[in-house]
Amino acid sequence: MRQHSIAAIPADGIGKEVIAAGLQVLAELERRCGDFRLAVTEFPWGSDFYRQTGRMMPADGLDTLRGFDAIYFGAVGDPGLPDDLTLWGLRLAICQGFDQYANVRPVRLLPGIAGPLRNARPEDVDFVIVRENSEGEYSGNGGRTHRGQPEEVATETSIFTRTGVRRIMEFAFRLAMTRTRRQVSVVTKSNAQRHGMVLWDEIAAEVAAAFPEVAVDKVLVDAMTTRMVLKPESLDVVVATNLHADILSDLGAALAGSLGIAPTANIDPSRRYPSMFEPIHGSAFDIAGKGIANPLATFWTGAMMLEHLGEAPAAARLMRAIEQVTGGNFPLTPDLGGTSTTQEITAAVCSAIRREA
Ligand code: ATP
Ligand code: MG
Repeated sequence: MRQHSIAAIPADGIGKEVIAAGLQVLAELERRCGDFRLAVTEFPWGSDFYRQTGRMMPADGLDTLRGFDAIYFGAVGDPGLPDDLTLWGLRLAICQGFDQYANVRPVRLLPGIAGPLRNARPEDVDFVIVRENSEGEYSGNGGRTHRGQPEEVATETSIFTRTGVRRIMEFAFRLAMTRTRRQVSVVTKSNAQRHGMVLWDEIAAEVAAAFPEVAVDKVLVDAMTTRMVLKPESLDVVVATNLHADILSDLGAALAGSLGIAPTANIDPSRRYPSMFEPIHGSAFDIAGKGIANPLATFWTGAMMLEHLGEAPAAARLMRAIEQVTGGNFPLTPDLGGTSTTQEITAAVCSAIRREA
């Protein structure tokens, strides 16, 4: 029997509720498929852990995680603690420590979900955003002179390396090769940002030459926002910088109907380290503890994790179960206009998995 070790880190707020639900669904799949086993270890790291120990995770946290096959992550952030501390102390420490440079964000309108686009059919909204997750605009370079003075100047320097751009571009093209459309849209702003973005354009052209089966188009980031709204059916794989893809993927999550549906994967394509799978949403303290968080994003990212672990049939079975629940007449959670609780959706997805047998 194939065995995969999973480190589960629910962390903060609704992260705890959705990871608990996700683990129930994965356990159901494991029982029904019967040909793999998930050995799950839960780690109580996050903001509560910080309050007890002064750290978001133990000093040797990365060493502990290194041996796992994947990380199933909830959400981090606490209204009583600075974002910098909670984010860098846990989530970004893992992303950077394990060189998870490819952030993958599928955007798909699931059956039965009424997104904000009038007349959009599920087949019209089905693309994936690949976000460069290790450099670019979020490198933390820059500074301020004459703090508080009228002559104050702040600089924010993006770092784009040939290696960094090339590896994310190659990842996007390889991903396109696994999809039916085989198209990559390269997002830049090279008409206004004339160094890093021009490097992106050049490397896109080099990599495109190595993938003749993949159609390529170049899109400026401002034009991409309108295209996502007006012509989503023209998109397949969208590759963009850390900042651009950050913004585009929030728009993508909105197009798919709710933040509560949108999944993401932080991948180390070299597979030297575990990759990390999480819902896009945050800890959402406004609804934490109420039992109404939408667990669908966490289920979907669980399917991405299974796929990454080589369990494609189980991943497909989970996606079909999710689609049966959204596409049936079952009431969904309040963020989607329904009245169901997290537990009710979890039970519905589990029984859809059983029915599939
Ligand atoms: P962050 O600071 O990481 O952005 P946050 O606590 O601000 O996190 P978000 O996750 O950004 O919260 O979510 C914004 C709002 O969307 C939440 O306050 C919540 O009402 C809603 N929301 C987010 N995720 C879910 C979910 N899974 N189910 C239901 N509602 C959600
Ligand atoms: Mg937020």
